[in-house]
Amino acid sequence: MDWHGTATFDPEGLSWAQRDGDACVVCHKRWPRPRVHVGRLPDSSRVLACLECAEALLPAVSATVVGFPAR
Ligand SMILES: [Zn+2]
Repeated sequence: MDWHGTATFDPEGLSWAQRDGDACVVCHKRWPRPRVHVGRLPDSSRVLACLECAEALLPAVSATVVGFPAR
């Protein structure tokens, strides 16, 4: 799940839950838990998003996401 986490997010616009990786950085949902590592904060904390939001954030790499069983 650790793919292309190169984007840096500005923590100013994020809630504590988002900064903590507890909520999706895009839609703020805390359940289901965000599972996709989409970037980092300046202090190198991981930023997570749910799969749908990650695909919207990173359309170019969405085809390479692995680990989600399809059957
Ligand atoms: Zn989301």
